[in-house]
Amino acid sequence: MRLVLLGAPGSGKGTQSQLMMRHYGIPQVSTGDLLREAVAKGTALGKAAKAAMDAGKLVDDSIVLGMIRQRLARRDARKGFILDGFPRNVAQADALGTLLEELGQPLDAVVLMKVRDKVLFQRLAGRRTCRRCAQVFNVFTNPPPKGGCKGGQAHDLYQRPDDNEQTIGRRLEVYAAQTRPLVAYYRKRGLLRQVDAEGELDVVEMRLEQALGRGSSPGKAASRAVKKAVKKAVKKVVKKAAAAVRSRVKPTPLQRARRKATKVVRKAGKARKKVVRKAVKTARKAVSKLAR
Ligand SMILES: [Zn+2]
Repeated sequence: MRLVLLGAPGSGKGTQSQLMMRHYGIPQVSTGDLLREAVAKGTALGKAAKAAMDAGKLVDDSIVLGMIRQRLARRDARKGFILDGFPRNVAQADALGTLLEELGQPLDAVVLMKVRDKVLFQRLAGRRTCRRCAQVFNVFTNPPPKGGCKGGQAHDLYQRPDDNEQTIGRRLEVYAAQTRPLVAYYRKRGLLRQVDAEGELDVVEMRLEQALGRGSSPGKAASRAVKKAVKKAVKKVVKKAAAAVRSRVKPTPLQRARRKATKVVRKAGKARKKVVRKAVKTARKAVSKLAR
C-alpha cells in the first residue's frame, strides 16, 4: 500500500498514520523527519540541505526527492509507505510521480482527511498540555480530570504558542491554499480518496480502511467486480425461485373462499359464545338475587 496522506493540522493525520503503519505493516515517511535525520547524520544530502537552510533558503526539491529515494530503498518500505509532508505543490507532485514510476512503486491512493474548519479550530484551540506529566487534553472535547496529576494535584496546563487562535487561522489558510491544487491534481488521476475524519478514532479508522479497500488496486477491483457479478446472479436466481414457490403456493379462488368462510364461521362462533356467557352470567345474578 503506497499512500500520500493529506490532512490539515488537527485532522488526526498523525494518529491515523500510526494505526495504518500497524495495520498494513508499512512505515510512515515524513519528509520533515528525513531532513532532520540527514542533517544530524551529516550525509551528502543532509549537508546540502543544511547549507540551504543556513543561507535562509528553502531546501531544493531535488534534495528532498533524493532523501525519499534513499528512504524507499530501505527494506521496510518494500510493502509500501505512507508519505507525509510531501508533496506540497503540483510541481513536487509531478516530480514525485516521476520518481515513483522510476522505482516501479506508483502510488495506490492519496488520502484526504476531511474535517470542517469549525472542528479543526476546536481541536487545535482547545489543546492543552500539562507541564508536569506532558499529557495532552482538550478543554472542549477531552477535559483533564480534576486532581489527576502527580501527587493528586490538578494538571498544570499550558497552550502551545502555535495553538493560539490567530496562528491557527493562518495555519489552516496556508494548508487550504496548498492542498486545493493537489486535491484537483490527484482527483484527475483517479487516486484521490476522501475520508470523513470527524468523529471517534476507530470510526475514522474504519472509514479509512473502507476508502482504501475501494479501487485500491486493479487486482482487487477485478475480484470485487467478480464478487458483485456473482452476488447479482445469485440474487436473480433466488428471486426467480421465490416467485416460482409463491405461484405454486398461491391459493385458487375456491381455496380463498373456503378460508374466508372458515374465518367468518369462527368469528360467529366466538360471538355466539360471548352472548351465551353473558346471558348465563345475568341469569345467575338474577337467581342469586331471588334466593336472598
Ligand atoms: Zn499532569
